[in-house]
Amino acid sequence: MKARSDWEQMANSLSLRTQAFVDGQYVCAASEQTFHSINPATGKVLADIASCTDVDVDRAVKAARVAFEKGVWSRMSASERGRRLIKFADLIEANSEELALLETLDAGKPISDSLSVDIPLSASAIRWYGQAIDKIYDEIAPTNRNAIAMIRREPVGVVSAVVPWNFPLLMAAWKIGPVLAAGNSMILKPAEQSPLTALRIAELAAEADIPPGVFNVLPGFGETAGQALGRHPDVDAVTFTGSTEVGKLFLKYAAESNMKRVSLECGGKSPNIVFSDAPDLQQAATTAAWGIFYNQGEVCNAGSRLLVQREIKEEFVNKVLDVARSIKVGDTLDPSTQMGPIVDERQMSRVLGFIEQGKSEGAKLRMGGVKKGDVGYFVEPTVFDEVDNSMAIAQEEIFGPVLSVIEFGSADEAVKIANDTPYGLAAALWSSDINRVHQVADALRAGVVWVNCFDKGEMSTPFGGVKQSGFGRDKSLHALDKYTDLKTTWIHVDR
Ligand code: NAD
Repeated sequence: MKARSDWEQMANSLSLRTQAFVDGQYVCAASEQTFHSINPATGKVLADIASCTDVDVDRAVKAARVAFEKGVWSRMSASERGRRLIKFADLIEANSEELALLETLDAGKPISDSLSVDIPLSASAIRWYGQAIDKIYDEIAPTNRNAIAMIRREPVGVVSAVVPWNFPLLMAAWKIGPVLAAGNSMILKPAEQSPLTALRIAELAAEADIPPGVFNVLPGFGETAGQALGRHPDVDAVTFTGSTEVGKLFLKYAAESNMKRVSLECGGKSPNIVFSDAPDLQQAATTAAWGIFYNQGEVCNAGSRLLVQREIKEEFVNKVLDVARSIKVGDTLDPSTQMGPIVDERQMSRVLGFIEQGKSEGAKLRMGGVKKGDVGYFVEPTVFDEVDNSMAIAQEEIFGPVLSVIEFGSADEAVKIANDTPYGLAAALWSSDINRVHQVADALRAGVVWVNCFDKGEMSTPFGGVKQSGFGRDKSLHALDKYTDLKTTWIHVDR
């Protein structure tokens, strides 16, 4: 790993891509307007980025449609599409230091996380679909003897992907892999807080021979570029990752336009339930601390509610506090930093607002609760004890480094508390009792349940939520369901 000074030198010599990428070329927004991309660790402007609006969306959708209808990608053999996606993944990997640095500067991630987590996982997500797509068969349905009924998967057409800022490239890669593997054309809209990696990989896609018009990137604001993608009559599907509030807007946009398919990966308030018979309390405590403080708590499945059984509560919380106190918060270019700033000033104020609300609702602040330093948007790791599940800090997604500790007695009580939020993205439980593990895992309403671990998964396992955490799954072969339609061709045969 490079030293801090090397990263800084590299940052000073970066040339940033700031224009939209449409039909194989970098272009200004039609309005020529731009917006600032800001480094949250310093509060300084990194670049001025093309601010795309409905006119740009229309241009990109047209390019995507033309490419789709020409069949330059949609009718290419699956093995050739796969080969090019693998090349795309290889190019991301080959440029991993630059991409990691862009992610760190733009989103405030510690450089060691960007380099060891975000970029390699993004490359492997795209590679996984490149490797998988020519191994999927269509079906012949069982019918009467006078028919052959073929059931084929077809790409839906033009897909727009609207993604958040917390894992800018990785959330995009979870869409890019299956959308392109299935033969669609796409328009990616990164979050306005973190457009740099998406813009950079556009030229890597071109270098991997993904034809012009197939992969377009439009930076811009949600209310303008995002809404225009949601409402465009010639977009066949929207795949969204972001807040529940905006997820609901995409359903409205689709209903008021062309009934495009919508899939939503939205917020969470995941319970992490620790029973007194957890196999290893120290490991559970370390994992619980990182389950909320990793990525500054800006993780959709963060274990933001820690449910601890009464008899071990005090001992367990003390262990979590010890881990939290050891976390190194600060300079994002220092390879030893473990926690960076909140993504922008607005989100930092929101996090601090929830902390004030927690205090005024009577939760006990055990650690943190304040902004750290005068430069940038850092918030100290924060732990609230004696939280009641009805409090705002237990019900609402804070999306910051704030842990709410809630005590419980029985397994039934734990499940009741765990399920008592509008969300259902993920949940975890720690216990050595195999019967209890199955009973509780069954009763938890969540798209993913972890047992004696937290935040584990591979590309082979689906990820997504129930309730107001959304619907549809990213990762795994199941993600292809969102970007393909089934066509039945019924052929009459005389015999
Ligand atoms: P957000 O909903 O504010 O923004 C997400 C995207 O939607 C951005 O690209 C934004 O520009 C766009 N957008 C915003 N307003 C819009 C509008 N009115 N119309 C159309 N598009 C609009 O979310 P965020 O603050 O960027 O990210 C945090 C949220 O993302 C959290 O709620 C988090 O839980 C969620 N998230 C979920 C997952 C998951 O897989 N379930 C993963 C990561 C993040």
